[in-house]
Amino acid sequence: MAAGIRKNDIVLVRQGKDKGKTGKVIKVDSEKGRALVERLNFVKEFIRPDRSKNRQGGIMEREAPIPLSRLMLYCEECAAGVRPRSKRLADGTRQRICPKCDGALDKAK
Ligand SMILES: [Zn+2]
Repeated sequence: MAAGIRKNDIVLVRQGKDKGKTGKVIKVDSEKGRALVERLNFVKEFIRPDRSKNRQGGIMEREAPIPLSRLMLYCEECAAGVRPRSKRLADGTRQRICPKCDGALDKAK
């Protein structure tokens, strides 16, 4: 399992053209092992004008999925990509913990 990256996580890109950048996960496709990350891995998409839909042609940029294997959970406290530890809380839920600063990587609900 690819480090358990989930929606709304902040991730660091480890490979590819956006290497070293961070962003927020918009969506995870666990079946395909990919994630969409806000403002990362932009691709240009050419749009044909379509009058029936009142759409103008042009070039649009949008996020393309990034393989989860290229992403790492990012700890804002440490400003680094980390491999989280999993910790079981008293109420039985699991929380992901930064191994460096011991901070919780799961956002408070
Ligand atoms: Zn940390």
